[in-house]
Amino acid sequence: MVVSRTTPSRQTRAQASPYNLRPVRSSCPSSSSDSSPSSSSTSLSSPRTSGSGSDTDDSLHHDVRATRFAISKVTDFLEKHVTKERSDFSKEKAKLVKAKNQAEKDRDAIAATLANLKKDIDKFIASKDEAITCSICTMCMERLFTIVECNHTFCYDCLRQWFQSSLSEQLKYRDVPEEHAHPPYTAQTLEFLFQQAFIHVLLYKCPLCRSSVRKRPVEVPLLKDLVAVISTTLGPPKEPAIVNPHLEDDDIWAGVFRA
Ligand SMILES: [Zn+2]
Ligand SMILES: [Zn+2]
Repeated sequence: MVVSRTTPSRQTRAQASPYNLRPVRSSCPSSSSDSSPSSSSTSLSSPRTSGSGSDTDDSLHHDVRATRFAISKVTDFLEKHVTKERSDFSKEKAKLVKAKNQAEKDRDAIAATLANLKKDIDKFIASKDEAITCSICTMCMERLFTIVECNHTFCYDCLRQWFQSSLSEQLKYRDVPEEHAHPPYTAQTLEFLFQQAFIHVLLYKCPLCRSSVRKRPVEVPLLKDLVAVISTTLGPPKEPAIVNPHLEDDDIWAGVFRA
């Protein structure tokens, strides 16, 4: 705010037009034709009074200096204010850029983690299918039976068929009556074959490693539960399991192993 010293004559001029700023010609001859800010200034307009005494010139010079000083103060203030605002803006902008870069990094890291997780899940699902798939029929083993001699595991249906085929091969060159010569063999047929001495020992081998199998394959409860949990958690297998009706028998290995 420009405050000028007031003399009666200046006060009159200021009151006449308090906000009417206009360029004031400097008394310096060199600046009479110079319109640059350094050589011109504004002042409260004051109609020229009649006469051109030295008091009037001094007064005008004083007004010019006061106005220049005020403008300089205002300019300094504005420049400082603008500089500070600009600095604050630059700092905020830098913060935002930093936050944006960090957010992009976080986003990329999350995307990479999700991609890896998806790979692991796909891998686990694939291994799950492999783990609960019978290597003979490539279907899910709902009822797993393990050959105790070698610990290889297969579904019941495949093992039963494998053993029955082996028995058929064993009887191939023996003079077995036609009604007992071919699978499926029953418990009665098996007893008949032993009693009639068509066979003396069951020569079974593991379908995978060819180890001799003399004992009944056993169902491993833990393995069965594990398969059930995996199937429940990760969904049903790609192929349905074969449910062999002999699984409902009192002796599920009847016709394959002797009681
Ligand atoms: Zn199988
Ligand atoms: Zn084996």
